[in-house]
Amino acid sequence: LPVLAVVGRPNVGKSTLVNRIIGRREAVVEDVPGVTRDRVSYPATWAGRDFTLVDTGGWEKNVEGMAARVAEQAEIAVELADAVVFVVDATVGATATDEQVVRLLRRSKRPVVLVANKVDGPRQEADATELWSLGLGEPYPVSALHGRGTGDALDAAVKLLPEVSAVGGALPTGGPRRVALLGRPNVGKSSMLNKLAGSERVVVHPTAGTTRDPVDEMIELGGRTWRFVDTAGIRRRVHLTKGADFYASLRTQAALEKAEVAVVLLDSSAPLTEQDIRIVTTVVESGRALVLAYNKWDLTDEERRHYLEREIEKELVQTPWAPRVNVSAMTGRHLERLVPALDTALESWDSRIPTGRLNSFLGTVVAAHPHPVRGGKQPRILFGTQASTRPPRFVLFASGFLEAGYRRFLERRLREEFGFEGTPIEVSVRVRE
Ligand code: GDP
Repeated sequence: LPVLAVVGRPNVGKSTLVNRIIGRREAVVEDVPGVTRDRVSYPATWAGRDFTLVDTGGWEKNVEGMAARVAEQAEIAVELADAVVFVVDATVGATATDEQVVRLLRRSKRPVVLVANKVDGPRQEADATELWSLGLGEPYPVSALHGRGTGDALDAAVKLLPEVSAVGGALPTGGPRRVALLGRPNVGKSSMLNKLAGSERVVVHPTAGTTRDPVDEMIELGGRTWRFVDTAGIRRRVHLTKGADFYASLRTQAALEKAEVAVVLLDSSAPLTEQDIRIVTTVVESGRALVLAYNKWDLTDEERRHYLEREIEKELVQTPWAPRVNVSAMTGRHLERLVPALDTALESWDSRIPTGRLNSFLGTVVAAHPHPVRGGKQPRILFGTQASTRPPRFVLFASGFLEAGYRRFLERRLREEFGFEGTPIEVSVRVRE
């Protein structure tokens, strides 16, 4: 999907505008059990167009010493966006920081819609007009708070979006399998990429339809070609002291959009961090297949390995199904095991359970462990079907609401029966009266 980024100084009303676009409900920070995270991108629809909205507001939480950082924030968002909504506070006027952002937007050559926010009434309209001076064309006067003018501004923004993103692109089928190499900074991504690519050759293919980053690399592994997506983002050294986290999240999401399977690198020589867990969560939510690679194995001793097992059991509870390889990007230890792990994960991701088989399995499970009786009623499962692959998604039709505990039980049993090693699965329930 095409990507639209909203940038601007703090307090100009970016979040309010973002909430208007995606609906307030979605903007609420999600609580995944054990993980609180700030989303940076949202699926959005406006005027019949689907796109991904990047909210740079999350950046502000990570960064102090604001003014100088705003440009950096914008730079990163812009790099990953097809078009930009630049929000200025009309009641304040253009500040030096705003002008800095303007220079950056010009250099980027991305199409921009200039939004003059906080135009709550006719009195501020003159303020908005003054923003012509920024040289970004017509300022759209809006009140994000009251909704005044936001529709026009968004119509204009959506018109600037290309049909298909030059940044993300649709997830293609066929061709070499697409792998995203993910992990927090310094975990060994570039080292692994270099080791995998070998010294002979590193072919760099600009992504079809664009000459700028991100760039993919074709790498031979186990006698086949694999497409490692967005490797430019790995190789490029990013020197950010603040907001590096935010940048990493954007990279992760951008790479996942194009990938079929993610290899998440973890540092086996150091404790798991919140960022590691967040990356794994992002992969699971993206519905891509997953392989966990414990890197820097050469640095671990007996004691550390013992502790690591306990840590994984305790912290990585959401992905007991992910294949795991213990590797060293430095020595090359066990890197060849990545291929079977990737194959397993992708096979599960692609797999389809025939409806007959699914229903006879459901029948057996439900007969042995019926849903508890609630309020004198017992919800029954009428029928199940796999609605999609990549990843496997199941829809169960039931005669009543199924409790979360029971749904988890069914999911567990599905995994026990069918494997699904290396892929997230989804089970949703439709109640039929
Ligand atoms: P990136 O930020 O994830 O791309 O991480 P780099 O590939 O730049 O690696 C960060 C540091 O860890 C570098 O100093 C590497 O030499 C080192 N490193 C990476 N993989 C290994 C490994 O398997 N073993 C050891 N001992 N060091 C490693």
